[in-house]
Amino acid sequence: MTVFKADWVLPVGAEPIRNGWVAIEDGRVAAVSGTPTSGVIDLGRAVILPALVNAHTHLELSYLRGVVPPSARFLDWIAAIMAARRRYANPEDPVILAAARAGIEEARASGTGLVGDISNTLVTVPLLREGAMAARVFYELLGFNVDDPAARARQARAKLNSHASAGDIRCALAPHAPYSVSPGLFRAIREDIDAHPGDISTVHLGESPEETSLLAHGTGPWRDLLTTLGVWTDRWKAPGVSAVEYLADLGFLDSRVLAVHGVQFQGSDLARLRALGTPVVACPRSNRYVGVGDPPLEAFYAMGVTVAFGTDSLASVQDLNLFSELARARQLASRVPARSLLESATRCGAAALGFGNEFGTIEVGKRAALIAVRIPAAGAVDVEEYLLSGIQPDAVMWLPKNPDTQ
Ligand SMILES: [Zn+2]
Repeated sequence: MTVFKADWVLPVGAEPIRNGWVAIEDGRVAAVSGTPTSGVIDLGRAVILPALVNAHTHLELSYLRGVVPPSARFLDWIAAIMAARRRYANPEDPVILAAARAGIEEARASGTGLVGDISNTLVTVPLLREGAMAARVFYELLGFNVDDPAARARQARAKLNSHASAGDIRCALAPHAPYSVSPGLFRAIREDIDAHPGDISTVHLGESPEETSLLAHGTGPWRDLLTTLGVWTDRWKAPGVSAVEYLADLGFLDSRVLAVHGVQFQGSDLARLRALGTPVVACPRSNRYVGVGDPPLEAFYAMGVTVAFGTDSLASVQDLNLFSELARARQLASRVPARSLLESATRCGAAALGFGNEFGTIEVGKRAALIAVRIPAAGAVDVEEYLLSGIQPDAVMWLPKNPDTQ
């Protein structure tokens, strides 16, 4: 057994511990309090906390870092990304794979130990496994105009099964968004989720005002783009409601579906999500980058929905550092307690991704996926607030999971 001691231990879900320590044995947390007897490694001016959880990213898009500049209009950004993605016809192009591998390492170096990764091609599954990064991989489907949605979902499931979920890499089907997936395909994916009770799914929801107008009136830039792409169909009728109401009425949303973005969510949407137990994943830096505005983060917390954080992909954010996302969240939600924001980035994210028994808090028996962050010399630092100040990778250290063998 090895004991790590530090000025602070942040168990998450319990009070921060001054001059705390954590004992690790066989890759698990063996104790968090009491009097350590032997093998104490004193980290000094540092805070020990659980690894962060990035609940929404697209590692396979890492090669698009900086390719499309920030945009004031979401649809302009979407069109530019679609054009950029056509550059590599082969999803396993070495450029794509190398960038995704580097993305995994970048996430880890900034303290992330678990990711929710969207993939259209599943190329990231072996990379995550090889990089030993725990992940919920969402195999994302698009299809606004699909003749046989059930067949589409069946084919996707067959491909998913060939990548067998195992251990720390758990895969499931996920629809992209209401403007790119037909009601029939939403239902077919929901049937697949219901047939796999351990699966967790996700959907981009309430991201842009253009999505809101398409669902409310069947008009606007999304309809124009779908028409240009040749996939618009008059069979699709605008539901005349919000994105949340639409998918809730379809029976798609529940506690096993993560709603990502929510920039356009109103109070009534949040009340419905809370009732359904649907977690919301906020990606505030990406939202600003793609020109959709800022998520109503304080309302998320005030309405009592479960909030997790994601960076989104490197196509729409500068880095995969979840501490940077927290710093942005702090700017947008100055009245939300620091503790709540940190819980979102750890415990809530882990639970939302279905890894709540292993990650997200420092508790006896849980995985020793722990980091230490260096803190300033000043005696009276509010350590929780300090963690929201934009921690950089050079201040982050991983605690060895099996110190006895290293
Ligand atoms: Zn996304």
